Amino acid sequence: MNYPNYSYILNQLYLKTNMYIKIKLDDKLQEIAISLIEKDIWGHLIPTIVINPLLMPNNKNIQAHILAHEYGHHYYKHIRDCDISKEEYNIRELEADLFASNFVYNYSYNLYDIYNFHINCNTPITKDRLQIITDIINNNKNNNKIDLYNMYNKTYK
Ligand SMILES: [Zn+2]
Repeated sequence: MNYPNYSYILNQLYLKTNMYIKIKLDDKLQEIAISLIEKDIWGHLIPTIVINPLLMPNNKNIQAHILAHEYGHHYYKHIRDCDISKEEYNIRELEADLFASNFVYNYSYNLYDIYNFHINCNTPITKDRLQIITDIINNNKNNNKIDLYNMYNKTYK
């Protein structure tokens, strides 16, 4: 397997957040990327992102959004408790997306590539995910103004 080079994007994420996150590759992973917290031999907690490079789209813009989404899960401390409701899960997904959308916007990645990737995915949050990207593209809203809880309640309750 050729070693995929995500270092440009990952270094941007490090410089933005000042958070070091360990990256692992797993070509058997069922998803493109997941976030978890591992322990080293001393029991120290290690925030980690596992990537399946075979599933990762070959497009830097989409890669930036996916990697930033995972970074967002760590940034918002989503990984610390896994026993959560479906509603809380969806809100966390959108929160990670909000982080990712702001990142790709601020670092001038192509949001249309990202939008077109997600429009072909049929997940329970695809509609809200696309709305966040649209709001960022329109630049009418920012991190503070998008109300995820309100957005979520409108769609799912
Ligand atoms: Zn996620």
